Amino acid sequence: MTKDKFKSLLNQAWKTVGPFLPFILAGLLAKKGKRLGGSATCTCPQCGYTTAHIRGIPCSSINCPSCSTPLKGEIC
Ligand SMILES: [Zn+2]
Repeated sequence: MTKDKFKSLLNQAWKTVGPFLPFILAGLLAKKGKRLGGSATCTCPQCGYTTAHIRGIPCSSINCPSCSTPLKGEIC
């Protein structure tokens, strides 16, 4: 296989996969996050306030803005 042929093949593959790459990456990242055991959201057990979970910061270290109760995640 010549270098040019390889290049055009690579280009073709990129044209096919390229537009979907962000979705593929997002899917992979979501799966990875689940495997790490982190929860996606933190919820206040007192009033039901929900916020996005920040990776690396346990939900219990965040206090609810409306009732100051430590938030609870789905796992942590
Ligand atoms: Zn609350």
